[in-house]
Amino acid sequence: MAEVVLKDVMKAYGAVHAVKDVSFTVEHGEFVALVGPSGCGKTTTLNLIAGLIPLTDGEIVIGERVVTDLDPKDRDIAMVFQNYALYPNKTVFNNLAFPLQMRKQSREAIDKKVRDAAKVLDITHLLDRRPRELSGGQQQRVALGRALVRDPAVFLMDEPLSNLDAKLRVQMRSEIKRFHHNLNATIIYVTHDQLEAVTMADKMAVMHGGCLQQYDTPANVFANPINTFVASFVGSPAMSLIPVDVATEGGGTVLRGASGWTLPLSAINARKAQGSSNGKAVLGARHSTLKLHRTALPGAVPGKVYSVEPTGDVTFAQIIVDAEVVNISLDPSVVIQPDEAVWIEFDQDRMHLFDGQTTMALK
Ligand code: ATP
Repeated sequence: MAEVVLKDVMKAYGAVHAVKDVSFTVEHGEFVALVGPSGCGKTTTLNLIAGLIPLTDGEIVIGERVVTDLDPKDRDIAMVFQNYALYPNKTVFNNLAFPLQMRKQSREAIDKKVRDAAKVLDITHLLDRRPRELSGGQQQRVALGRALVRDPAVFLMDEPLSNLDAKLRVQMRSEIKRFHHNLNATIIYVTHDQLEAVTMADKMAVMHGGCLQQYDTPANVFANPINTFVASFVGSPAMSLIPVDVATEGGGTVLRGASGWTLPLSAINARKAQGSSNGKAVLGARHSTLKLHRTALPGAVPGKVYSVEPTGDVTFAQIIVDAEVVNISLDPSVVIQPDEAVWIEFDQDRMHLFDGQTTMALK
């Protein structure tokens, strides 16, 4: 088990900056998810930690050691890949045993470690099979087992669940969480799926365009997204974002939408909005904080129903406000129709305000 520290880590491929000045610390025993859209630099960051590619600049520390220039084999890490990378001709036992045989450990020690790992992952009954005789979920468990027997300081996992079907992913999600809990392992886990990150990780590192946007617990990232990118990336359905002008009306501060509606602000929100650059702001709200009205209400924002999606215990609707889509969740008993005129009431205590130019949260 070890702490992992990234200091101003940078990776350039010619003019492409795959990773730019990324710094964060993963504490002992912490599960950190690197998350972001395709091409944001998460796999490159993981490969830099693993030592599979050299840094352009910066420093990486694992445990007490600076590992920036060490080979992967000397970093005390184990990787679990998306494609499992199992040896097809070896039995499960020998797949698990192989890294230990390479380290010239005794037959007894190998046997014990393999059987202990198999027990943790519930694959003892599969030890004599070959990978092709296993389901995707079982292969994934063997890949985890192969990392586990090495007893590394840090587990690095690159989209380990992405080859599994939706149901198995959910199941393996909780298995990896238990794996982390039981071993108290330090895990750095790459995923493009924000839900995987939110449900599994102690902390998430949200990346975009090679830069670390926010590094915090999932709860804090969800409650206080640092900018509009993080706000719209974390949470499903996404946070709705509406560009607005900050204006004064009747002595108070209001937000004015592109179609002319105005939304009076509470004192706290007025103060935040007044900090926006050139009076341009973005109003953000999560679906569960919005209330739908069928008639005009002072302070409620007019919109038009675009689509309605009943899911059983909750109905999601998309409402068009100005040119933006606003996601809202409704009790399934509420029946609304596409193209219907509606009004949306924002919760002043749970709305978000961002700077229209810098995209940063207004504080
Ligand atoms: P994905 O989820 O699609 O795997 P990612 O977030 O893991 O994406 P990276 O694979 O880290 O993204 O890539 C980050 C950026 O660096 C991308 O723009 C990619 O095209 C670029 N890149 C990655 N590897 C190389 C390379 N070997 N040569 C040139 N550019 C590269």
